[in-house]
Amino acid sequence: MSDMHDTTKAIIHTQEELERLCEYWKTRIGLADWEFAIRIKRAEDMISESQGDCHWKLSNRQAVIQIIDPVDYSKHNMGEQDMERSLVHEMLHPLFGPVDKEENSRLEDIMLEQAIESIAKALVKFRRGQQELLP
Ligand SMILES: [Zn+2]
Repeated sequence: MSDMHDTTKAIIHTQEELERLCEYWKTRIGLADWEFAIRIKRAEDMISESQGDCHWKLSNRQAVIQIIDPVDYSKHNMGEQDMERSLVHEMLHPLFGPVDKEENSRLEDIMLEQAIESIAKALVKFRRGQQELLP
């Protein structure tokens, strides 16, 4: 799940663009042999009440990522929606699979969530500064 966003301009992508970005990112974060299914979902169809969600199986290296439809992006969130950052954030979750228990209540879950968001933010910021690497 991701809840910390502070971009000033919304970054919106189609599902096809997100799939291309997923291909770009998976080789760079060490998940080249993973299979990701990306879905843009309305709020009522999201598994959890968040901007993104990832359900994965370490055993067969498959993950389903849900990104919230811009229509339902809550005005209560800080900053504008950044779908690529949400995507990278959710893609990082399987990397932490062995320690990520999807509980989100213990202190270490909150710290893990913040660490994942910081890494996602840094990676996306770096890619956007590297225009020639755009997919
Ligand atoms: Zn998360």
